[in-house]
Amino acid sequence: MISNSKGVALITGAGQGIGRSIALRLAEDGFDLGLNDIPANKDKLSQLAVDIAGKHGGQRRTHVVPADVTVEDDVKIMMETVVKELGGLDVMVANAGIIRTAPLTETSVADWDAVLAVNVRGTFLCYKYAAQHMIPRRKGRIIGASSLAGKIGTPYLSAYSASKFAVRGLTQSAAVELGRFGITVNAYAPGGIQTDMLAELHTADVEWTKNEGGFYGMMESRAASGTLGKADDIASLVSYLASEEAHFITGQSISIDGGIHFD
Ligand code: NAP
Repeated sequence: MISNSKGVALITGAGQGIGRSIALRLAEDGFDLGLNDIPANKDKLSQLAVDIAGKHGGQRRTHVVPADVTVEDDVKIMMETVVKELGGLDVMVANAGIIRTAPLTETSVADWDAVLAVNVRGTFLCYKYAAQHMIPRRKGRIIGASSLAGKIGTPYLSAYSASKFAVRGLTQSAAVELGRFGITVNAYAPGGIQTDMLAELHTADVEWTKNEGGFYGMMESRAASGTLGKADDIASLVSYLASEEAHFITGQSISIDGGIHFD
């Protein structure tokens, strides 16, 4: 059978939320997929692989690669496994992220380190090892997860906000360095997207959003669209950034937030 695959994409944090939607969309677009999440979420990845097989009649190949993106050896092996099992790596989506909510004065070093480890070190490791595979092929798309909180300082989210600002710096630096190898590096910077992560923010015990209908209410009232976004909205942006025609976009952290304004 002649393969009609567009290439191989690896998505971290694909067990749920935005990562899961990106995987489903890139399968629709014709990519074979490496599906990553932490080992505890392996069943969610297996179910996702079944769902993709069900939708595409076995035309799309998937490989489940549970790994903790904060651990360098895990990321290195994850990348090598995907290249070996699926035949290459064309698109890296470093999506995995975590959040902690607390006033700055009560943010523990443990929470600070945990957030920075997943959101910054994990993204750095995914960019690093993806680039090692892509440079010899003079081709690739690297895509990270920033945030609205990576563009404006955000109360009660100091660690998270700092980590998402860092993703922007990493993304710009990597883009400049890797451009001559035909590799683009971009990030998505979502506003409020309906996932478990946002539910965690909505129920957080902080006074910030209490008079604004919680986090959901605040994001809705401050979005020009008047709505929260959906994980599929982010997946459609990733679909474009991963495509051949997006070759002239690099170093960008693209806001996708329904037009948030804080005036
Ligand atoms: P989510 O629903 O919490 O999903 C994130 C996934 O990543 C989870 O399955 C999580 O597992 C996994 N993960 C956590 N630590 C990991 C690690 N060390 N290695 C591999 N996987 C790990 O989050 P989401 O809302 O889909 O967000 C996806 C990305 O978009 C994140 O980077 C987030 O910061 C960013 N983002 C989201 C929003 C939003 O409104 N939802 C807005 C801006 C930016 P566990 O659940 O078991 O921890």
